[in-house]
Amino acid sequence: MVADYRIEHWTSACSVVGSSKDSAITISVNNRAATRQAIINTLSRKGYKLIERSTWHAKPPRDMLTPASWDYRDVVIHHAGHSYTCAVNARGAIEQIQKAQEYDMKKFYDIGYHYAVSCSGELIEARDIRYTGSHVAGENTGKIGIVLLENLAEAGEAWQQEYSRKSLWEKLRGSLDIARDAVAFNHATPTKMQIDALLALIETLIEYFNITALGGHREYQLLAPGNEGRACPGRYGMQVVKEMRAKFRLGAPSK
Ligand SMILES: [Zn+2]
Repeated sequence: MVADYRIEHWTSACSVVGSSKDSAITISVNNRAATRQAIINTLSRKGYKLIERSTWHAKPPRDMLTPASWDYRDVVIHHAGHSYTCAVNARGAIEQIQKAQEYDMKKFYDIGYHYAVSCSGELIEARDIRYTGSHVAGENTGKIGIVLLENLAEAGEAWQQEYSRKSLWEKLRGSLDIARDAVAFNHATPTKMQIDALLALIETLIEYFNITALGGHREYQLLAPGNEGRACPGRYGMQVVKEMRAKFRLGAPSK
């Protein structure tokens, strides 16, 4: 039997105008695996083949992750930080995501972000979107984390945003990091390929979730309990944030 409705999106579908049915049928398919796959398919139609966890041989989470509340409203932009420089190809980007997962798994059950974007414009699946991320201090519910795989901060930004707020003891303890920050002149600026890939990713996420706000990690961090500063995503990352907010007419972080 041929159905009278056509699935436009996995999350909602309506009857085709002019179908033989009198009233519109609205169906909601709340199948999260299907939504994850639909995101991958939409990206693929836009010319981006998402490098899935299975492709980059992601380690399985150390323990049970929290299933997402599925009302994603915020997109949080991060940069990978000082120890990252632009990878030259997909293989390099995969090495970076593996390194990021290794680092994050010292603290969390899995890599904290949901997606990563390399300098050359590869899109990579990080934490499965079906699970709440671990990328902002305080509340991660409803927040999709995207990391740009390079350092987008200028030397001294970590001092301005983070260490200057800390106690003398913490400053002493962090002196190596502070020294490293002061001479970290190896920052990148985002490439056009990376920006284009990020645009495609955000546009796709907006199709599947009711995204209302977008911001940099440092903006969300200031709203978190304790108000600790963060340099992430750096001065150049914040320029990207502002461009994306304007382009998609999204609000600034409010929670
Ligand atoms: Zn961050």
